[in-house]
Order: sequence, then C-alpha cells, then structure tokens
Amino acid sequence: MGWKLLTRRSTLIEAQHCANLLESIGIRAQVRNRFLAGALGEIPQVEAWPQVWIPEGQDEADALARLDAASADLSGRAPPWRCMSCGESIEPQFAACWQCGATKPEP
Ligand SMILES: [Zn+2]
Repeated sequence: MGWKLLTRRSTLIEAQHCANLLESIGIRAQVRNRFLAGALGEIPQVEAWPQVWIPEGQDEADALARLDAASADLSGRAPPWRCMSCGESIEPQFAACWQCGATKPEP
C-alpha cells in the first residue's frame, strides 16, 4: 500500500501528536522525517520538518478536517499535564512523558 504526505509540523512531538490523533479516529498514520528535525538545535527548514503521512486511499481534506475536530475536542477537555520528573508539559492523551518516560501522576 502506498502512502502520501498529509501535513508537516515544526516539531516531532507535534507530528507524533497528529499521528496519534489520526490513529485515534481510525486513520492510519506514519511520522516521517523524524530524525532530521532539530538535529542542529535550530528551527529546521520546512523541508526538514517531521511529516505526517496517511494511506494513499485516504481522503486528505477529510483527514485534515477530522484531525482539526479531534484536536479541538481534546483541547477543550483536558489541559496538558506537567511531568513530575523533568517538568515537561505533556498533552493530556499521553500516559507517559515523551521526554523522560515518566508516567503521568495520579490526580
Ligand atoms: Zn519527563
């Protein structure tokens, strides 16, 4: 099966966030270009941004619309949580810190 580029994000965490949201609404997604971004500690060129890819047969406009809807839905519900270990701000749908791997503290 072929894949096509859906969208780009300036950071890997945002790209991964998009892919997770897409998966959560039933659209398969892959993050590519993940090793180029920020390799030099700079804001990368758009060409080097992490990319979110979807299956070729998937409707792009539909996927983007549903991605936006899912994103708005999530942001309206739960705030990001703060990692107790490294202090990073983590999106609410993640159960563990993307940076250090610490699990989400119980409320
Ligand atoms: Zn952490």
